[in-house]
Amino acid sequence: MTIAERYAQLRAAVPAHVTILAVSKFHPVEAVREAVAAGVTDIGENYVQEAQRKFGHGELAEPRKHFIGHVQTNKAKAIASTFDVVQSVDRADAASALAKAAASLGKRLPVLLQLNISPSERFGCPPADATALAQLIRSHESLDLQGVMAIGPITGDESEILGAFQQAAQTFERIGGTTLSLGMSGDWRLAVQAGSTMIRVGSTIFGPRPARPASKNTAIHHSC
Ligand SMILES: *Cc1c(COP(=O)(O)O)cnc(C)c1O
Repeated sequence: MTIAERYAQLRAAVPAHVTILAVSKFHPVEAVREAVAAGVTDIGENYVQEAQRKFGHGELAEPRKHFIGHVQTNKAKAIASTFDVVQSVDRADAASALAKAAASLGKRLPVLLQLNISPSERFGCPPADATALAQLIRSHESLDLQGVMAIGPITGDESEILGAFQQAAQTFERIGGTTLSLGMSGDWRLAVQAGSTMIRVGSTIFGPRPARPASKNTAIHHSC
């Protein structure tokens, strides 16, 4: 199946009010172009340098670009200039670094608070601290807090996954916003059941992920 066929099949299965964020990490820019031509409006990437290689030359202006990787404070400026939305604000210093970067770029950056709802996840704000972090994010004028993102637990136990997603949905209700970013290729149905408004899907659209490309020093794709 082509990317267009996989996307069409997924789009038909997902309720219309749920946005599909196509996660293109490790896939070449040609695959992203194919997805956009097939109707994808939102693209997600985990690594700043990889995203800059793909989108850094003003190519692919149409889709909204979401950063879904770990926010390193020393990359805040690159993140804020490359992406339209940052979904992974999980702590105070990430928020202040992004706020400073957005202010210096003269933009108000849409962000989501990343919640930790899973023992298999290293990053994310514990639900008990989410209200305080939301307040802190809102204190930065250059950040626009639009909701919550979380990664589900890696387990075959569907009731555990659903329970974790429901906890994220409750935190989202408390914090407010318009976007609840929950669910990936393996668990988006449970996420939608729990109230997700945006699923982040990689392999179901692009196929199995290639190995992570070698980093910056290798000459690959440098001018693509
Ligand atoms: C890679 C990734 C996805 C997509 O994963 P698939 O299982 O390929 O759908 C979604 N969200 C985050 C945060 C990711 O890192």
